[in-house]
Amino acid sequence: MRIFTASLATETNTFSPVPTDMNAFKAAFYAGPGEHPDTPTLCSSVVPILRRRGKAENFTVIEGTSCWAEPAGLIQRQTYETLRDQILDELKAAMPVNGVVLGLHGAMVAQGYDDPEGDFLQRIRELVGTDVLIAAEFDPHSHLTARRVANLDIMATFLEFPHTDFEQRGEHVVELALQALRGEIRPVISTFDCRMITIFPTSREPMRSFVNRLQALEGKDGVLSVSVIHGFMAGDVEDMGSRIVVITDNDKDKGDALAAALGRELYGMRKDTAMPMLGTEAGLDFAVSIRGAQPEKPVLIADVWDNPGGGVAGDATHILRRMLERGMDDFAVAAIWDPIAVTFCHAAGQGAELKLRVGGKSSPEGGEPLDLRVTVERVFHAGWQSFRNSRVTLGSTAVIRPVGTNIDIVLITSRTQTYEPDIFSNQGIDFANKAYLLIKSTNHFYAGFQPISSEIVYVAAPTSYPTDPATTPYLKASLQLWPRVADPLGLDG
Ligand SMILES: [Zn+2]
Repeated sequence: MRIFTASLATETNTFSPVPTDMNAFKAAFYAGPGEHPDTPTLCSSVVPILRRRGKAENFTVIEGTSCWAEPAGLIQRQTYETLRDQILDELKAAMPVNGVVLGLHGAMVAQGYDDPEGDFLQRIRELVGTDVLIAAEFDPHSHLTARRVANLDIMATFLEFPHTDFEQRGEHVVELALQALRGEIRPVISTFDCRMITIFPTSREPMRSFVNRLQALEGKDGVLSVSVIHGFMAGDVEDMGSRIVVITDNDKDKGDALAAALGRELYGMRKDTAMPMLGTEAGLDFAVSIRGAQPEKPVLIADVWDNPGGGVAGDATHILRRMLERGMDDFAVAAIWDPIAVTFCHAAGQGAELKLRVGGKSSPEGGEPLDLRVTVERVFHAGWQSFRNSRVTLGSTAVIRPVGTNIDIVLITSRTQTYEPDIFSNQGIDFANKAYLLIKSTNHFYAGFQPISSEIVYVAAPTSYPTDPATTPYLKASLQLWPRVADPLGLDG
């Protein structure tokens, strides 16, 4: 048995000012054939999983290229085509194969391609023919198109948001693929369009219980896999929106019925899934009031939408500016993406005092740059943070402190959201003794920061991210979706 595996993934925010090119893939994660580390990345876990299982179970795994770019704006056309054709050439060289197992994200958009994954999967199908199994793992913040479903035999998304189960779901996809290749199952995909878009953190109710029930459905009564495509509201493409995916063991009717039932149930929860968010002033008022009770741990302020994980630059200054103007002291910020400021800090050197323009350079929506007199506390050539089991690069970094304050600000050059508290400690900041921590992330921070925070305050501050799908100026996405339309499925009675 011969299986080809590769990974091509990023998440495209079509509203982002940050273009995506080959450098973005090379800078974030790029592993040629055989070069994938044994530790997984978010979208490529199927590659090391198959490598391990191939050795243990004595089948042949041919690895192609794996790559990932930090979420950003449109992918340059040549970049997508080059990476696609490179992996297709690697597959051609590997043939004949019995199966192709891919690590995708599912929300790529390239210049001239609104559905790159559909294009990629169709080309793979044309190359290998209908008898070869094609399976893929997706991020739930993706789009589902008919073209993808038509060219896939098996697909599953991470069920958790934060995506703490990406590796487990990679194992799930690989296991289903192997069972199918051994003739033990005949996977059939069913889908249901929920006609809505919102966010679905699974760290809180009602999604927590919903996902628990989905997990309990899998592996019983002919149901092989259940996934939720949350959708990605910052991707203006025709098929943007939430979907249910069910894979049965050759029982399409049952799969269709289950997908529809689960989809209607999710639809019924649509007004309750997102976490409560506050505006900047109300959020800071709340944070200050929590602090007033002198908790033992810092108050965490999450800049929910200026999240590079959703494709924006991550250099918005709104909340930091207001914290400074309010005279808040004794806090730490991670991170602000600002390659120019980091370059200046490295050039000035550790301990130097200088006037520095910080943040606010990528677009007007995130607020004006802050002009501060700062001390360069520390500089690092290769900063990093963890995300659970994996390591995320920050590029070269600098920690600055506005003169006369107890405020530490981490500046980074490799855009990333804030995942874990070691983003502070790795840059020499004693985060546990700060009154407040300001981070940029929607929900992936939760597993890491919840244990070290007295309270999490979700703040919806302005950014270039399109935060309200009811008013976002979509040109391609369907407008017949909740919250654009009150009850598109007509189930409210
Ligand atoms: Zn995601």
